[in-house]
Amino acid sequence: MKFSKKVLEWYKVNKRELPWRLTNDPYKIWISEIILQQTRVEQGTAYYERFIHRFPTLKSLANASEEEVLNVWQGLGYYSRARNMHSSAKRIHNELGSIFPDRYSEIIKLKGIGEYTAAAIASIAFNRAYAVVDGNVVRVISRVFGIKEAADTSSGKKKVQEKMNELLPSNDAGTFNQAIMEFGALQCTPRTPDCKQCIFIANCFANLNGLVDSLPAKSRKVKTRTRYLYYLVYVANMKNDIFNWIVKREKEDIWKGLYDFPHYDFTSLHTIKDIKKRIFEDIPLAKNSIITVSHEYKHVLSHQVLKVRFFIIELAAIEADKNISWLENKRCLKIKTMDINNYPLPRLIEKFVSENSMFSKNSK
Ligand code: SF4
Repeated sequence: MKFSKKVLEWYKVNKRELPWRLTNDPYKIWISEIILQQTRVEQGTAYYERFIHRFPTLKSLANASEEEVLNVWQGLGYYSRARNMHSSAKRIHNELGSIFPDRYSEIIKLKGIGEYTAAAIASIAFNRAYAVVDGNVVRVISRVFGIKEAADTSSGKKKVQEKMNELLPSNDAGTFNQAIMEFGALQCTPRTPDCKQCIFIANCFANLNGLVDSLPAKSRKVKTRTRYLYYLVYVANMKNDIFNWIVKREKEDIWKGLYDFPHYDFTSLHTIKDIKKRIFEDIPLAKNSIITVSHEYKHVLSHQVLKVRFFIIELAAIEADKNISWLENKRCLKIKTMDINNYPLPRLIEKFVSENSMFSKNSK
């Protein structure tokens, strides 16, 4: 039996019931594809449902503010996905009459959509004959057909793409794409593929040649860099309310559009004493404040490791007024402490806030 037919039959029996598999709506398929780009299905499903509940149509997403979109996305990471999606929704709404483009060549022009996502939407929502290549597909194709070149080289990727184009049934492209990805996710998994119960046991190249652990081949190692962030969490009790100062991240860097605290950002480790000295130089009045220092948080991103401490600086009320000009120079926003969760926060800041009783609603 042909490879494609076997995979399609396997899929019929083994596929998971997932909410985006119950629709042909390109908007919903697009949302699911973007969420699943860097997120596991288990976590992604809850976010998908929350997102669709909050923005059920393309128009509702286009009309939302960036902050509302980031708030729903909070915790998923890779926030540029949400910003690009929001900008594409506005473009489709304003320039294309709210009608999602149905051609690959048009879909791929949307912000945040690459070859994989364009092929997935074109095939799943519009049944157009475009083959997807993602990590699952690379693994299955490399193992079954013995492709030994690394898929992160252009020639390796080309080989997998060509094989997929050859295997793709043009009348059922969307189902085939989903079937092979599901097969990679459930059966031919990265570390523990179930070869003994596999439909390809008799003809899988990797299985027959003892290469299951070596395929797919990898070539490039992702370089990571370490950043040391020292957050300054100013706290002031003023006119019977507790306030903090937060700052919106505007630069082309991690967490663009989200809020965190003013901070020092270094490439090397600094001692607590060094940081306190720096704080006192920048704000001499902070010398009279009580400063509590958190433990070190380690936060791992795709290409960066963040080592982070929070310096909680309790400004006396009278001194807080005098310190505001320094904070305003840093374009800080003064907020009531208990309102912090109304702002979109990176997961790390969310974690710090959830662990610190000062931010609970009843702390006043
Ligand atoms: S035999 Fe093993 S390696 Fe080959 S396709 Fe099946 S699960 Fe994957």
